Amino acid sequence: MREKIRCPGCGALMNFHAEKVDTGTDADAPDELAFWGGVVMEFHTCPRCGAVVERPAAEP
Ligand SMILES: [Zn+2]
Repeated sequence: MREKIRCPGCGALMNFHAEKVDTGTDADAPDELAFWGGVVMEFHTCPRCGAVVERPAAEP
């Protein structure tokens, strides 16, 4: 399950928006965050103020 996170700007619950693999550009990423040669990142958008948060995915 994917937990909702709160907007760092206004505190509203954010919507999970997308997941992508960031490939090749971050050679210094910790091994535990690396999958398929890249790092899986989650994107969350705020329905209130439009902020976007990018963070490493919690699960592969
Ligand atoms: Zn917000």
